[in-house]
Amino acid sequence: MCGIVAYIGHRQAYPVIVKGLKRLEYRGYDSAGVALLNHGVKLYKKKGKVAALEETTLGKDLDGHIGIGHTRWATHGEPSDRNAHPHLSANGKLAMIHNGIIENYALLKQELIKKGYRFHSDTDTEVLLNFIEDIQENNGSTLEEALRIALKRVVGAYVIVLIDKDNPDTLIAARKGSPLVIGIGKGEHFLASDASPIVEYTKEVVYVNDYEIAIIKPDELILKNLGNERQTPFIQKLDLELAAIEKGGYDHFMLKEIFEQPSTIYDCLRGRLDVIQGTITMSGIRNNMDKIKNANRILIVACGTSWHAGLIAEYVIEELCRIPVEVEYASEFRYRNPIIHKGDMIIAISQSGETADTLVALENAKEQGAVILGVVNVVGSSIARLSHAGAYTHAGPEIGVASTKAFTAQLTVLTMVALMIAKERNTITRDRYLHLLNELNEVPEKVKKALEAAEHIQKLALKYKDVSDALYLGRGYNFPVALEGALKLKEISYIHAEGYPAAEMKHGPIALVDESLPVVFVATRDTYHEKIISNIQEIKARKGKVIAVITEGDEIITAMADDVLPVPEADELIAPIISTIPLQLLSYYIGVAKGYDVDKPRNLAKSVTVE
Ligand code: GLU
Repeated sequence: MCGIVAYIGHRQAYPVIVKGLKRLEYRGYDSAGVALLNHGVKLYKKKGKVAALEETTLGKDLDGHIGIGHTRWATHGEPSDRNAHPHLSANGKLAMIHNGIIENYALLKQELIKKGYRFHSDTDTEVLLNFIEDIQENNGSTLEEALRIALKRVVGAYVIVLIDKDNPDTLIAARKGSPLVIGIGKGEHFLASDASPIVEYTKEVVYVNDYEIAIIKPDELILKNLGNERQTPFIQKLDLELAAIEKGGYDHFMLKEIFEQPSTIYDCLRGRLDVIQGTITMSGIRNNMDKIKNANRILIVACGTSWHAGLIAEYVIEELCRIPVEVEYASEFRYRNPIIHKGDMIIAISQSGETADTLVALENAKEQGAVILGVVNVVGSSIARLSHAGAYTHAGPEIGVASTKAFTAQLTVLTMVALMIAKERNTITRDRYLHLLNELNEVPEKVKKALEAAEHIQKLALKYKDVSDALYLGRGYNFPVALEGALKLKEISYIHAEGYPAAEMKHGPIALVDESLPVVFVATRDTYHEKIISNIQEIKARKGKVIAVITEGDEIITAMADDVLPVPEADELIAPIISTIPLQLLSYYIGVAKGYDVDKPRNLAKSVTVE
């Protein structure tokens, strides 16, 4: 979380930084700030979004060719002007931005207070900054040396970027656990949390590794490890187009991303699925197939929406591959001393590939001998690099904070992985295998068809926008879809919603049902169809309002429900990729109808790089 941008070179730094911060706002929007170096440090910061910062800087002196900028997702200290980054060190010479958490900040702060330091914010960031300054002043070290010494004592995760009044042609950055990309231009360098602020200036980038320090001048980039040894920067070509990170005529990124799904799912299948040959080609999986197919057990580790994708994958993998699967919240898994055996396989699912909890969980599991298979969207991200095997979801940049297209791409990839393993293990018949390949191939068209209901769903949103609670129910493969539907509604419209297995609701949540409670059933035609019809009856008998996602032409549920959201028929194993579409649209339109900023829902941020 939190977006950082920095620039050094021949351009004016301020416009480059502010434009970049706007692209990174999905990572946090509690406050924004910029520090420019030009005969001293000029500092501007403001609570709220980047637009508020721009208002503050109107008419101010913004001249400078080196600068750092930050858009914050607060961890330590409330969102406010004084807690906004950049922070200034006590002697006013250093300014710093930070993404992450310094876990031992309280101890360091006490030490510094004893030495006479006073703090102007509640952040962990200001503590680290003054800790660096203190080392610099006491040891007479250069900033680079002081930084190295400081980082050896720091516990936690960070990307930090510093400017120094006494070194007006240098940026210094360091990384552990949070992402940092450096764009290499002609006589200029760009630093950012992801490549989106960089792509319009250069396609040559270096992804900084953990425990590396970067010393950056306009025409020089030096990377060192904490042992002061030079590292060779690995320059990569960016595979990202500017159009991919712009709204392209849609009101919101979320809507654009919902509507992109026919093409993102197609991109995910393209070059991999061949229905004529009856093959799936994913070299990252194929090259490691021996280990993968012989896994004794699969653990899926993820957070949020990716965790829901994991739950669906659990059903799919157990059904097709007959390997036991457990799905874990990464944040729980990493701390609860899980039992991991050699021969276990961990599937890590993460849109950003930077999710802090998932990342650490994987590092631990890898040390214990597990095979790591990463399913991530962002190419070159930390989880992708840490995995033994992997498959990218190819959904393109997802900027709306509530995940949509990344989820359906994850489901698509995970289904293909399951099919590949099942074929190798001979746990699937040839007919079923070919049938599912065909079904997958048809998903982009079916999703397109499901999206045609957008206008209808927009009207429905007006009918339900003022409810205070909602229940989402599903069975089998559609149970996690219900969980995901409820999560989307919470995130975007701030309406309390709960997802539940439809049959389980009798054991508690049914007590909530009355004429004011909408109950959303994910009830496409599958093995449990008659059972879920009974569950709908149970809700109707108690006067609940029923909205049902159904298979087109399902007259039985249409007659029973208050409103229906029809989707094209699909095999039950594939259906979640399609039945989730109307639920995304419903949350989106309810959020919009309530007047909320759906791309930047309150308190949330994308790419959760803090624990
Ligand atoms: N821990 C820092 C703060 O609360 C940085 C948080 C972030 O990554 O935005 O200010």
